[in-house]
Amino acid sequence: MKRVFKVVRCPRCGFLQLTAASKIVRCFSCGLSWQLDREAILFSSPDFGRAREFLAKLKQRREAGFRKASGEG
Ligand SMILES: [Zn+2]
Repeated sequence: MKRVFKVVRCPRCGFLQLTAASKIVRCFSCGLSWQLDREAILFSSPDFGRAREFLAKLKQRREAGFRKASGEG
């Protein structure tokens, strides 16, 4: 069975992360376990490298769009 990597956004805290889960995702940031739905999936690909690249670009854009409040995020 092929794995599909997805870039998802936590519905509670908005944290962006990469997952191979198909149903339940656990947020690395706030610890919430939540059910995947189409709206939460921003990108999906069987290619881990591409998914990771998408996530990196998304985070860059977020940093460009919002002022950095604290050093890391
Ligand atoms: Zn979260």
